Amino acid sequence: SREIRLKNRPVGMPIADDFELGTVELPKPEAGQVQVRNVWMSVDPYMRGRMNDARSYVPPFALGAPMQGDAIGEVVLSNDPSFKPGDLVQSMFGWREAFNASANKVRKLETHGLPAEAFLGVAGVPGLTAYVGLLHIAGLREGDVVFVSGAAGAVGSMVCQIAKLKGHKVIASAGGTEKAAFVRNELGADETIDYKAVADLTGAVAMAAPEGIDVYFDNVGGDHLDAALANAKTFGRFALCGMISEYNVASPQNGPRNLLMAVTKSLRLQGFVVLNHLNLQPAFAKDLATWHAAGKIKWRQTVFHGVEQAPNAFLGLFKGKNIGKMLVKLS
Ligand code: NDP
Repeated sequence: SREIRLKNRPVGMPIADDFELGTVELPKPEAGQVQVRNVWMSVDPYMRGRMNDARSYVPPFALGAPMQGDAIGEVVLSNDPSFKPGDLVQSMFGWREAFNASANKVRKLETHGLPAEAFLGVAGVPGLTAYVGLLHIAGLREGDVVFVSGAAGAVGSMVCQIAKLKGHKVIASAGGTEKAAFVRNELGADETIDYKAVADLTGAVAMAAPEGIDVYFDNVGGDHLDAALANAKTFGRFALCGMISEYNVASPQNGPRNLLMAVTKSLRLQGFVVLNHLNLQPAFAKDLATWHAAGKIKWRQTVFHGVEQAPNAFLGLFKGKNIGKMLVKLS
């Protein structure tokens, strides 16, 4: 079975040579273990943080060891009474074709009629992140004008749709004309900004929302956060979900230029990690099922094939190569 290991800890933007492809021979699973062949694995922006040797809310990846991440696979051998061959399971043993693990480290996946890989995207952590950030952290309320960055991505595309389902005006930013068209035509954003094509992002947000914004869902940080601060209404609320524009900056120089506006406009800026809000998972699953049954949820995915392509898929996140969720399909 092949797996991707962390070879070097990158400084700045990671490169293909920071990863290595290795092979392991899997023994038969021991008592209480299952053997799983992965079918889908997720690559996510937060994994960049785990490549650093730094303390955070998840421990760093170990050098020379296989990387980890969300994955869906099929049980091929079971030495535990609670699983049988053919069971679909979700685990954190991504970045490898197959693995042995204690039965309590994998969980059975009920797909409820959705494709299995949706549980790495729209119905998985990214979907839940959008739901938690928008409804719980930003505290979305009637009449709010919502601005979201990274709008064509896994989290952002759900933010757009949940806000539209609840009747809000949505201003969405994404890189490139194809993404802007997706966000406008398929996700229903009222105003779209192709941030790669505008010289003045603050001005572009002001044009899209002359009345100002009440809620900013931040996936990007940097200039986007500054543009949101400049365009926020008094008592605006910011859900700080991620700041991907800053993950590969080796030594950050300056903070947001407009942070003083958080004072003058009485803004609330709140960061969050979705893992601290898993209590909202049942409510999310229920709402998603209702919205999906009504035909109101759309999603896309960008798929790389083969475990050897996982580093490219991951690096592609930082170059905007994905529309919707970035996934790797394992053969
Ligand atoms: P996406 O599917 O949004 O993929 C990443 C996207 O980020 C790219 O497609 C690209 O889109 C954009 N991007 C990359 N580099 C830059 C840059 N320098 N400036 C602006 N945009 C950039 O990923 P996810 O939906 O998985 O994650 C979105 C955000 O949510 C990330 O910040 C992530 O860390 C965060 N997150 C936070 C969680 C939490 O618990 N707080 C949980 C899950 C995700 P484009 O072409 O438009 O530039």
